[in-house]
Amino acid sequence: MISTAITPIDIKKTQTSRLSNVDFGNLPFGQIFSDHMMVCDFKNGKWENPKIVPYEPISLAPSAKIFHYGQSVFEGLKAYKDKEGKIWLFRPLENQKRINLSAERLAMPQIPENYFMEGLKALLKVDSNWIPTDDGSSLYIRPFMFATSEGFHASPADDYKFIIATSPSGAYFAGDVKVLIEQKYARSANGGVGFAKAGGNYAGQFYPTQLAKDKGFQQVIWTDDTTHEYIEEAGAMNIFVRIGDTLLTCPTSDRILDGITRKSLIELAKSEGINVEVRKIKVSELVEAHKNGQLKEMFGAGTAAVISPISGFGFKEETFNLPTIEESYASFLKKRMTDIQYNRTEDPFGWRYEVK
Ligand SMILES: *Cc1c(COP(=O)(O)O)cnc(C)c1O
Repeated sequence: MISTAITPIDIKKTQTSRLSNVDFGNLPFGQIFSDHMMVCDFKNGKWENPKIVPYEPISLAPSAKIFHYGQSVFEGLKAYKDKEGKIWLFRPLENQKRINLSAERLAMPQIPENYFMEGLKALLKVDSNWIPTDDGSSLYIRPFMFATSEGFHASPADDYKFIIATSPSGAYFAGDVKVLIEQKYARSANGGVGFAKAGGNYAGQFYPTQLAKDKGFQQVIWTDDTTHEYIEEAGAMNIFVRIGDTLLTCPTSDRILDGITRKSLIELAKSEGINVEVRKIKVSELVEAHKNGQLKEMFGAGTAAVISPISGFGFKEETFNLPTIEESYASFLKKRMTDIQYNRTEDPFGWRYEVK
């Protein structure tokens, strides 16, 4: 991608820091917002300079296209602070590339790499004291872009806003997760936008997820939209299954988001000598493996939780519980991943990125 030159980033600091009000020993996930945000406007066909400003409400016209036609894409990554106070990101260029894939699918402009990276680094430096250091906690980073042009006609906007906001967050605990294998609704379809981190994808998930919750499950396992015979994702996470000692995950597609956690786990597991198969997984194969005692683990994988173990699944009218096992791939791989992310171990893959 062509990088556009940016002059030094303008920084307007808050007069009233909220830092001292935050209980860092007791952080929720994604509910407290740091003092500043990065804002960059796309106008007249080009990006203006990124700025750092206080985190505060923004003003938009009621006719702004984001409200009507949903042109909105986002990303999620984390900043970690190690024992020496160094700041690390995990494969941030993958997020930068992915927001542009999402943007392209929604007919939105591309964000140049240096706007994304320089804007993010400037923000992290201004709010470096907001990066928590307690075990398992991190600064959750949310880059997002949306349409700001006015108009009630269904066409792509001319103007957009790209913002990065951050949230000091504690470890993400989903608790005991029982999932329902979806047999009616679909998260995405062939030719659709399932591979993109587009806001509307999540809006469409809430109703079926609520129905699953009403039945006593915490999450939905999305299946393919035509046959509902193949598992595809676990809520807004990629899905992994362990049958015998093989770790399985389905290939990405139009319908399945190409998770950075997913692809890192595949590489990590392989490097640890675990047999990994990337192929389609039938629901009937899970049921069969459960009957034979070979279905040992299922887990979701994504930035927020890294790995979220699944304790059982519902399919049609039956519930299948998974055993609790001592040496799970889930806990082994989660430890390996987070040790790399927090700079507690070597990073043979070159995934860590220091913010200096
Ligand atoms: C963000 C997301 C994931 C996980 O992606 P990571 O890059 O690992 O955070 C998986 N599935 C969906 C639908 C997502 O939105």
